[in-house]
Amino acid sequence: MLSVRDAEATILNSIQPLDHQQDLEFIDLLMANNRILATPVISSLDFPHWHNSAMDGYAVRYADVQQARANKPVVLEVVEEITAGYQPQVTIKPGQAARIFTGAMMPAGADTVVMQEKTHLQENRVFVFLAPQPQEFVRHKGDFYQAGSELLPAGINLTASEIAVLAAAQREQVCVFRRPRVAIFSSGNELVMPEEMLKPGQIADSNQYALATLVRELGAEVLLLGIIKDDPKALEEIIDYAIANADIVLSTGGVSVGDYDYIDKILASLGAKIHFRAVQMRPGKPLTFATFPNSLYFGLPGNPVSALVTCWRFVQPTIKKLAGLAKGWETTFLKVKSHSELKSNGKMETYIGGKLHLVNGVYQFHKALGNDSSGNLINLAQTNALAVLPVGKTFVYPGEEVFVLLLS
Ligand code: AMP
Ligand code: MG
Repeated sequence: MLSVRDAEATILNSIQPLDHQQDLEFIDLLMANNRILATPVISSLDFPHWHNSAMDGYAVRYADVQQARANKPVVLEVVEEITAGYQPQVTIKPGQAARIFTGAMMPAGADTVVMQEKTHLQENRVFVFLAPQPQEFVRHKGDFYQAGSELLPAGINLTASEIAVLAAAQREQVCVFRRPRVAIFSSGNELVMPEEMLKPGQIADSNQYALATLVRELGAEVLLLGIIKDDPKALEEIIDYAIANADIVLSTGGVSVGDYDYIDKILASLGAKIHFRAVQMRPGKPLTFATFPNSLYFGLPGNPVSALVTCWRFVQPTIKKLAGLAKGWETTFLKVKSHSELKSNGKMETYIGGKLHLVNGVYQFHKALGNDSSGNLINLAQTNALAVLPVGKTFVYPGEEVFVLLLS
């Protein structure tokens, strides 16, 4: 059976990320949080825009004050006061200084700032008691960024700090990738919508809600296609529609080997390339991955725990990579100490839900306490991590280190 690592590689290699020319949107800066920058940003401004002071103090000529001592202060004439936003009018000549405040423009002639704590003002004369370093407390034009070079690269996720940079560069609008479109449907004759009265044998469709929530959290647009009966004709129609309208299709149910598990046959009849039908993991073994020319298809297991675990493990990096993120889309694992004893049959890579607790600054994994049947969705609530036991590992002792996949 295909290992998780090989399944992941197959999926990630099949992804065609959104196009740098076609899949774009221009949006207002304030709407850009968590969107992915589609084109590099270049600014025609230097940062800082002009030499400015990093302190409240006096702008001076270094040559004038290099001999200043506590017992032998240098006395300078203060010829101008420069506040932030004011353009200096006077050139500082030998023996002169300007009162200056943080962020204000340096006046011509001055090259150094003396902090006000090292000075004493008497009328229009300032006493400097300490020799500064040459150019001390001056932020020079272009020190942080030079006009014309790359300010932000394409393919990054925009958060508060990048949006601040864009605002500083006076971008009102920003070019981002459109959101990936993800179609979701559930299949199963036993499924009803949560608001419907349950008849014997029926259950509420929780998968569609779980997947839609996760997909939205990842910044994708959701196309909810509802519940489809275990009927080949209905399934074929919906899959045909989904692949024409979405970048990624997620269905749950109907991919095991039961008599009503039709999905794989339908995918084949619609011309999909089926890459695999099962992965050596638990929960999540019956997992179909197929590709169409313009979309990726995940036939996820119906079991709600399996559906979520396979989504976290495989669909999450898929959405991030397809969305145009240049780096950091891979599933990452954290090594932590397990507080609980963990078990596996050793035959499958095993994912165990639980919670990471921060104890004295160190994360500890605590296994979820309820019944650990693979169908126990209730147990998955209030968890924030999945511990991963590789194939061959049957036991993790309390205190032993284990890799976990962080869920949020
Ligand atoms: P299947 O993969 O269709 O054989 O389903 C496996 C198990 O998951 C069965 O117990 C189904 O009733 C259950 N199941 C399937 N689809 C859903 C769903 N959308 N929501 C909740 N449970 C489901
Ligand atoms: Mg079913």
